[in-house]
Amino acid sequence: MKPDEYLNEDGIVYCKNCGTPRQLRISIFDREQLVPISCRCQLDRINEQRRKEKKRDFRQRVLALRKSGLSDERFPNTPLKTTKAITRKWKRQKLTLTAGRK
Ligand SMILES: [Zn+2]
Repeated sequence: MKPDEYLNEDGIVYCKNCGTPRQLRISIFDREQLVPISCRCQLDRINEQRRKEKKRDFRQRVLALRKSGLSDERFPNTPLKTTKAITRKWKRQKLTLTAGRK
């Protein structure tokens, strides 16, 4: 048992922080078994981590898009919306060159 856990009267391990069980009692073939589960604060931490990862992924994607938008080589791969916004700033001559490239 971890230092932040305690064994409750019902024989199940609980979390000291949030007071929710870290074990689940299930019966398999008439035999009771305790399986480990995540308590509330562990779930919160996991969710928070996922949220941060999502945020980071999004930021990286935006950065990558910006990079590709500014880079001449990757210009045709840029999504239409971004392309439109950028093309307005571009000179006509440069645009023709980009359009002709495969
Ligand atoms: Zn907890």
